Amino acid sequence: MDYYIPACSGKKVNVKKGQRITVTDLEGGQVADFFAVSATEREEFLSPAVTLDCHASLKLNVGDALYTNRYRPMFRIISDDVGAHDLLFPCCRPEMYDFFYRNGDGHPNCFNNMNGTLGEHRSIINPVNLFMYTTVDEKGKITIHPPISKAGDKIVLEALMDVKVGICACSVSESDTNSGKCTPIGLCVE
Ligand SMILES: [Zn+2]
Repeated sequence: MDYYIPACSGKKVNVKKGQRITVTDLEGGQVADFFAVSATEREEFLSPAVTLDCHASLKLNVGDALYTNRYRPMFRIISDDVGAHDLLFPCCRPEMYDFFYRNGDGHPNCFNNMNGTLGEHRSIINPVNLFMYTTVDEKGKITIHPPISKAGDKIVLEALMDVKVGICACSVSESDTNSGKCTPIGLCVE
């Protein structure tokens, strides 16, 4: 099944163990916030912090698993055209837009899009930010660069358990996060 996720919006899909999820940056330079909750246990969910702990790395490679808060593998990376994804940043939210740009009121954001599409009320969501290109230097300074993903670049993930997945085309147009503009994301589940 193919889905089109318009700019600044989110989509939920129910995915069975063994199914593959393809997330495509349709126009290039766009981040897709990726989050998932176990289909059977809502307090087990995808955790970028646990994932970087398990790999002792901020970089995801083909063959790596993405882990839950309970240190169980939830997805495996089957292929990846890009090789640059972020494990550090929470979903953008109105308070973030207020903090940096004083424009949070009414601003579309991944936090509300993700909670809304998943039917959740989580107080913070830490997604795997697909295609988001961040670097950390030796002094600890974090820099967000424009994504290196080109139009049509994709990542393929295999679900290792039954999950509900939320994917949001990130709403930040104020910085390099999405190359200064917001564009759609493609999704395929098979
Ligand atoms: Zn966002």
